[in-house]
Amino acid sequence: MARYTGPKCRLCRREGMKLYLKGARCHTEKCGVAKRSFAPGQHGQRRTRRPSEFGLQLREKQKVRRYYGVLETQFRKHYGEAVRRGGVTGDNLLQILESRLDNVVYRMGFADSRAQARQLVMHGHFTVNGRKTNVPSFMVKQNDVISVRQESRRREYFKDFSEVLGTHRAPEWLSVDNGSLSGRILNLPARDQIEVPLFNDALIVEHYSR
Ligand code: SF4
Repeated sequence: MARYTGPKCRLCRREGMKLYLKGARCHTEKCGVAKRSFAPGQHGQRRTRRPSEFGLQLREKQKVRRYYGVLETQFRKHYGEAVRRGGVTGDNLLQILESRLDNVVYRMGFADSRAQARQLVMHGHFTVNGRKTNVPSFMVKQNDVISVRQESRRREYFKDFSEVLGTHRAPEWLSVDNGSLSGRILNLPARDQIEVPLFNDALIVEHYSR
């Protein structure tokens, strides 16, 4: 499937906020938004007009989509599922995005960014309940156990990884066992358990309800 392969900092600059797409670098002064806090491109420094209602909704949708590294078609499918579940669509949408296997691998601390997590998953380094799973959009469920595959533990990347996991703080809805390089989904996250930049999910709902 096609993916955006251009500069990641450009996406943050377009949205005017840090989307944390580059792992540790995002927390340093090398961050693209910190260095150039204006939109990318030839006209990026021009005075911008007040955005239309549609423009505001579109930008909010793009922020969330880019934050999770999901393409439009997939994002729309997730939105459809969020509507189908009933209740608050924005909350459902965030819970669905958090339940993606690539996001869980990132949240557990096995990767520095969601892009890296996605690649690790696609290369077949993880199992879900003992079964090799290489689909980044795979939806995890409560009590699922995500582990680094036995064959992958010999790889340089995962050597001494328990120490790396020891320094990582996973969200409260996940439990991670450093020793066995695995983690469990304690519960699917409620809205207040999801740590994300300030998103206005109501605007996304308005965008897709047009
Ligand atoms: Fe975004 Fe990270 Fe680049 Fe900063 S360093 S602009 S947060 S991707």
